[in-house]
Amino acid sequence: MRLVKNPAEMQQEATSLKLQGKTIGFVPTMGYLHKGHLALVQKAREECNIVVVSIFVNPTQFSPGEDFERYPRDLRRDQALLLESGVDYLFYPEAAAIYPSNYKTFAEVKTLQDKLCGAFRPGHFKGVCTIVLKLFNLVMPNRAYFGIKDAQQLRIIEKMVEDFNLNIIIVPVPTVREADGLAMSSRNIYLTPQERQAAPLIYQGLLAAKTIIEQGERRAAVIQELIMQKLQNSPLLKPQYLSIVSYETLEDLEYLQGKVLIALAAFLGKTRLIDNLIVEI
Ligand code: AMP
Repeated sequence: MRLVKNPAEMQQEATSLKLQGKTIGFVPTMGYLHKGHLALVQKAREECNIVVVSIFVNPTQFSPGEDFERYPRDLRRDQALLLESGVDYLFYPEAAAIYPSNYKTFAEVKTLQDKLCGAFRPGHFKGVCTIVLKLFNLVMPNRAYFGIKDAQQLRIIEKMVEDFNLNIIIVPVPTVREADGLAMSSRNIYLTPQERQAAPLIYQGLLAAKTIIEQGERRAAVIQELIMQKLQNSPLLKPQYLSIVSYETLEDLEYLQGKVLIALAAFLGKTRLIDNLIVEI
C-alpha cells in the first residue's frame, strides 16, 4: 500500500492509472477506522482494480464548538487495517495542502443541506460537499463508496454528482453495527460505560418502527411517538431530532410513501450519535 500525502501526486497517480485502463474505487473517511469503514473498502475491493482510501479530518465540516480538535486519530492503526484489507493507496493530505490560506471556493447542495442534521450543524454539508468534490478531482474515481449510516450525506453527494454531471457512480453501503445494534462510529469511543449501555436504544427504537411499518402502519406521527417512547427508556439519551422524510427530497412526510428515511440524532452526554432506517413502501 502506498501512502500519498501530496494532492498533486495523488492526481498524477490517478491519471496514470486511468491511462492504463484501471478502474478506481474510492472510500473517503476521517480515519479512526472501524468495521463500517472496512465494509466500504471491501465492496470497493470487489468492484474495482485499484482501491484508494483517504483519511482527512476535514476542518470545514465542523462547526465552532464541535469536536474537530479532539476527533480521534490513529494513523498507525488505520494503516495496518487498510494494508490488511488490500488497499492500494492511502491518501493522507495535510489541511494546509487542501485549504491553502488563499482558499475561496465551496460547493453546496441547496435545500437538502438545510434539513435534518443540517438544521443543527450550519455549514456542515457545504464543508462535506467541498471536500468530497476536491477529493473526487484528486482521486478521479470511477466509483465512490458511502455509508447509509450517514444517509443525508449520501443523498446530498448523490445530488451533487447529478447536478455537477460528475462521471462517478456512488455506491451506498449498509450500516455495520455492533452486536447490540449500535451503529459503528469513530465517535463511539467518547461514550462512558453508562452511555454505551444506553446507546442501543436508538436502534431498538428504529427496529420497533420497522415492525409496525411491516404490520401496515403509515402515520408518521404514530411511528415517531413509538420511537420516542423507546428513547425515553434512558434518561441519558437526549434526542435532538427525529424526522420521517422522503429520501429523495428530505421533506417531512405525514404518511409514509415511496422511499422513506427515518433519521434521528441524539446526545449521550456530549456525544452526538446519528442513526436511521430506510424503508420502501
Ligand atoms: P467517517 O470517517 O465517519 O467520515 O465515515 C467515512 C465513511 O464511512 C462514510 O461514508 C460513512 O457513512 C461510512 N460509515 C461510517 N460508519 C459506518 C457504519 N457503521 N457502517 C457503514 N458505513 C459507515
